[in-house]
Amino acid sequence: MQPVHVIGGGLAGSEAAWQIASRGVPVVLHEMRPGRATAAHKTDGLAELVCSNSFRSDDAATNAVGLLHAEMRRLGSLVMRAADANQVPAGGALAVDRDAFSAAVTAALVAHPLIDIRREEIADLPPADWDSVVVATGPLTSEPLAAAVRDLTGADALAFFDAIAPIVHRDSIDMSVAWAQSRYDKAGPGGSGADYLNCPLDRDQYEAFVAALLAAETVAFRDFEAATPYFDGCLPVEVMAERGADTLRFGPMKPVGLTNPHKPDQKPFAVVQLRQDNRLGTLFNMVGFQTKMKHAEQVRVFRMIPGLENAEFARLGGIHRNTFLESPRLLDETLRLKAMPRLRFAGQITGCEGYVESAAVGLMAGLFAAAERRGETVSPPPPTTAHGALLGHITGGHVVTIDAGPRSFQPMNVNFGLFPPLERSVVKTPDGGRLRGTAKTVARKQALSARALADLDCWRDALPAAAAE
Ligand code: FAD
Repeated sequence: MQPVHVIGGGLAGSEAAWQIASRGVPVVLHEMRPGRATAAHKTDGLAELVCSNSFRSDDAATNAVGLLHAEMRRLGSLVMRAADANQVPAGGALAVDRDAFSAAVTAALVAHPLIDIRREEIADLPPADWDSVVVATGPLTSEPLAAAVRDLTGADALAFFDAIAPIVHRDSIDMSVAWAQSRYDKAGPGGSGADYLNCPLDRDQYEAFVAALLAAETVAFRDFEAATPYFDGCLPVEVMAERGADTLRFGPMKPVGLTNPHKPDQKPFAVVQLRQDNRLGTLFNMVGFQTKMKHAEQVRVFRMIPGLENAEFARLGGIHRNTFLESPRLLDETLRLKAMPRLRFAGQITGCEGYVESAAVGLMAGLFAAAERRGETVSPPPPTTAHGALLGHITGGHVVTIDAGPRSFQPMNVNFGLFPPLERSVVKTPDGGRLRGTAKTVARKQALSARALADLDCWRDALPAAAAE
């Protein structure tokens, strides 16, 4: 049987190689380290964790990444097996001894009789006789390969990731303070004139907010990022604040064209707008609020905004160099490049964010590639599962961003806002009563998780059987 070629032995490529080989299909895994380094990796180990050693929450019942852990374990993930075996104490989080973790993944792949590991850079599009390839070269894909993919997909398709703004769960916004309205009630295509959520600030609140922005701690750029300029249309909000007390009030926080129905006689001094971020309308991004404040600082400072006092963030802002595809336009539902279907993409380059998510997308790419090689059919995981929700974000199959265009698709961690909503009745108390506040949020997450695991089990049971190890 012809091998599947996997390019990149990071989180996604390692998991993809494992899944493919576990199904009896030979794999050639091409990893450029140690011959060629990236700006962030420090070792020659496979599945190296480049920054923190945490796989985040391991709570499958109420946390979307914990749920993703649970699903991956049920799907025989090598990354999860190595993480579980090399845990370090970290409260409710799954943190690992990074060297032991990487060594365990490397050892398992080296020992597998169907996996051939080659330490070499693939510096161009793979040769034409590689009829099935998984490209899992990550956010720091080497430049020659990045350039080749850019040429194949169009100049804007492989983008430098300059800045992102936080995304808030809609149901955590206090609508007794905020209101829905587009500026001047303008209705865009498919819009209603009430497409944005608006949070009003009076003069005192604005001044206190700007002072907090200026005082907040920011993340230092890494050496390799320092030379990357800001895009002028995408300045961090705290950099805008440094330019003058009124800069934000005349920029993203301008209060024009809006009337607060809660206080119709009082014109807001400034307004923060949030724009719908997914088709379900469960997530809203803070317009113009890209930031390099530290995560805890973002939560503290942004919760000063009236209406966002209890905001739950699906994603916090950040600025760093990142290479990713405009996947909803470019990839099909099994992660194949539409323009060259022998290439399948996996990991952070597809527009997911995080170690666990990258490995999960590698897992799916591996399953799809193995099935294809064996002439079997595998349908994508249901959108109600964490894997399906993540795949939906990437391929746009289940959930798409509202605006078309490259800048509207941004990498994201898995979160419950990506899941189709529950039937309302599901989150009632056992005796049919109405839940409120935190109890309602917890019950909703528990119900989403239970639904996900049940649906995942059905999907897994219908998968073609893995070969015996
Ligand atoms: P990687 O793990 O980066 O793997 C890609 C592999 O491909 C690498 O081994 C690389 O050497 C190889 N490669 C690249 N080009 C070629 C080529 N042409 N030929 C052959 N091999 C090639 N996520 C978190 O959850 N927590 C964090 O703390 C965190 N910190 C991060 C810090 C930085 C600086 C960066 C850039 C990202 C961070 N991420 C973090 C995001 C992301 O989760 C990780 O980058 C993750 O490792 C992505 O997995 P991946 O498999 O897609 O890519």
